[in-house]
Formats: sequence, structure tokens, C-alpha cells
Amino acid sequence: LEVIASVEPRIAEATRQELADQRSSLKLIASENYASPAVLMTMGTWFSDKYAEGTVGHRFYAGCQNVDTVESLAAEHARELFGAPYAYVQPHSGIDANLVAFWSILANKVESPYLEKLQAKNVNELSEADWETLRHEFGNQRLLGMSLDAGGHLTHGFRPNISGKMFHQQQYGTDPGTGLLDYDAVAAKAREFKPLVLVAGYSAYPRRVNFAKMREIADEVGAVLMVDMAHFAGLVAGKVFTGEENPVPYAHLTTTTTHKSLRGPRGGMVLAQEEFASDVDRGCPMVLGGPLSHVMAAKAVAFAEARTPDFQAYAQRIADNAKSLAEGFLTRGANLVTGGTDNHIVLLDVSSFGLTGRQAESALLDAGVVTNRNSVPADPNGAWYTSGIRLGTPALTTRGFGHDEFDTVAELIVDVLSNTEAGTTKAGGPSKASYVLGDGVADRVTKRSAEM
Ligand code: PLP
Repeated sequence: LEVIASVEPRIAEATRQELADQRSSLKLIASENYASPAVLMTMGTWFSDKYAEGTVGHRFYAGCQNVDTVESLAAEHARELFGAPYAYVQPHSGIDANLVAFWSILANKVESPYLEKLQAKNVNELSEADWETLRHEFGNQRLLGMSLDAGGHLTHGFRPNISGKMFHQQQYGTDPGTGLLDYDAVAAKAREFKPLVLVAGYSAYPRRVNFAKMREIADEVGAVLMVDMAHFAGLVAGKVFTGEENPVPYAHLTTTTTHKSLRGPRGGMVLAQEEFASDVDRGCPMVLGGPLSHVMAAKAVAFAEARTPDFQAYAQRIADNAKSLAEGFLTRGANLVTGGTDNHIVLLDVSSFGLTGRQAESALLDAGVVTNRNSVPADPNGAWYTSGIRLGTPALTTRGFGHDEFDTVAELIVDVLSNTEAGTTKAGGPSKASYVLGDGVADRVTKRSAEM
């Protein structure tokens, strides 16, 4: 930090403050974690200075021999960790990984006489009319994904997102009574819509998914199954999700982030069956900018960590702790979407406290509890204000929290929410954003959490 301070002291100060804040608050954001010093240090090296578009042994720049070593090792660790035939470790983020997967599905599956020419690199033979037809065929495909309010991600076909614009899209939800995935309903929708791509995976669904069933549905309608395991990749790597709950053997393409439960650097990855490998390989430069070699190096380090028995024990504790947190809420009378959890996520419906998700999120932050507001199924408050709070156990599990600490976390959250009232607008009407936190609550909660 001294080196940084000698150039721009305000950045050094912000960095110091970020560390202090992360240490003094309760980090319950389900997509965050604390990467190890080895992972963090690997990102701050000279690899950051190197351009390496292309793939291992096939670069558009000279002098990439060390990047080749790094990328090969990261991919090799990833293949072994997840039992995947092929791993592409270049994506800069989870969204980038999904875009590469979409690209590879279109490139591989859209039948067109022009594609052959493209793949043979005879692009100069294509006329304007050829390109127009190609654009039309690429832009005329269908995708079926989980809706945002049921727990899916923006890139799973949410209309305003690029995925909802590049594909004709439809969405499946969860059962309105139980909040659980209804495979028969997904199958019925798939039969009717006949998508090219069926997307499974989630950002805010607190349950496990049976990927064998999803593959059956995809096969029945001739779709490609793409699973986005960004959230639960750590639970797959740590062998908590095995058999039909492990997407990798069932999906044609599995995408992920590397920084959530997997506890690596910020980044993304695509795992693929052989048939898609060469199309995924063209992700850079067809979809992505030059790879972040320093981050690929850190991915290799993180995957090496994830292959240890220690990591498996950590992954199991993530799931056990989520159960403890859920029980902590249920015994205190709070409402959970689906009534509990069997992964790393707990989705708390805060409407019984008379609050919106936005009000709850802000009040909790005042008390040093960092969460994010989240829609609940059929949310009456929409995606901005919401009615839920999403909580995840990976980060505090890294800090060593166990059953008792997570029970206390539930107690503190219920304390804050029971002592928060919805505020009013400037004109005196009901507000979905402003709130009034009871006297002394923030101090009481901050003090208790500092002791943990
Ligand atoms: N996919 C899922 C399921 C996610 O939950 C997220 C992020 O929250 C992403 C993709 C996007 O990841 P990133 O922010 O790295 O682009």
C-alpha cells in the first residue's frame, strides 16, 4: 500500500478502508467470498502487462510462452476438479462466460450453408446478402431460462438483457405454492416452445436442481442444455453436489464464475463437452477481449486449492451453515422462500416485517450486516424495491463461522428488522425506500457482531 500511496494516496486509503469494512461487517452477500492471500497475490503480477489473444499455442501475439503455461495449468486443474472434457478459463466474468457459451451454441448448431464458409475462413466469399441471412439465422433462435423473480439470472433470457434480445425467449418459474422448481411445468413449456437453448442454474434459488431431469427435457425437445453454476460451483467442486445435482456430466455446456462459492479471483469459465470445444475456443477474440493472464494464473491457484480435502470440508460447512441460518429464522417466526434451503442461499421474505427488500437492506447495512435485496416469486414490489433479502453463507464460512454463529446472525437480523419501520416520502405518503431504525439497534448489533 505504501507503493500505491506514493502515487495516489486516495486509492491506498480506499483500499485500506475496504479491508477494514470487510473485516468489521457481516458479509452475507451470497455471491461474495474472501479469496486466499495466494489467490490475491497471484493477481498482482507482471502477467497483467501481457496481451495474449487466441488460445494456447495459437496466439495472435508473440511471446506468450508463459501465458500458455498459465492457461494450460488453469484449464488442466479445472478439467480435473470438475471432471469436464474441456475447460475455457479466459472469460473475464460470469456474464462473459455465458456470452461465450451462447456464441458457441449458435456457431455450432445454427445450420447454414454460410457457416461452413465462415468456418473454412472464406469470409471474403460472403456477399452482403449472405451476411444478412446469417444475421437473421443467428438472431432467430429460441432460449428458455428461469425467470428473474424465480431466482434465474439476467443473462438467462430476461427481456431487457442482451440474452433476451439476441434470442426469442420464454421463461419458466417455480411452483406458486411451494416456490420449488416444477420439472413437469418446465417440460411442458419446452415442448411447446421448442428452444434451441435450455438454461438451468440460478442466482437466488435456495434449493438444489436435478440436472439429469433438465437434460431429459432438453433431449426430448432437441435443445442444448446450458447450466450456469456460477453460484454453486464451490459446492460442485467440494463434492457436496454429486450425482444428479452435479451439472457437469449432464450439461452440454456449464458456465461459472470463479469468485463466489468457488473462492477464486473475479472471473468466469466455460466447461464443455468435446463437440463444443472448438467453438468455445474462439470465444476470444470473437466475443471477448484479450485474456487477463494474471487472473487466469489466480484461477489456477484457486482450482489447486479447491482440489484439497480442506476445500471439501469447507464446501460441506457452507451447506450446513445455510441450514443453521434457515433454522435460526424459522424458529424466530420469519418467512423463507421455499421454507428453507439445501444449498448456500437463504431467501428471506421481509414482507411480514412490513418492509420492502430495499428498506430491509438499508436498515441492515446501518447495523453492519451486508446483504442484498432480492425479488421473491411474483414479487408485488418489483425488481427494484423487492420483498426479499438474499443471504449466503460462503464468506462467513471462510471466516470460520459455524452453527452457533449463524444462529446468532439470524437473531441479529430479526432484531434489526423487527425494530425497523417503513418511512414516508417527503410528501408524507408511504415510501418503499425510506425507513426508521429504532434507537440503539445499530449499536447493539454492531457490538454483538464485532464479538463474533
Ligand atoms: N450467472 C449467475 C447465475 C450469477 O449469479 C451471476 C452474478 O451474480 C453471473 C452469472 C454474472 O457474473 P459476473 O458478475 O461475474 O459477470
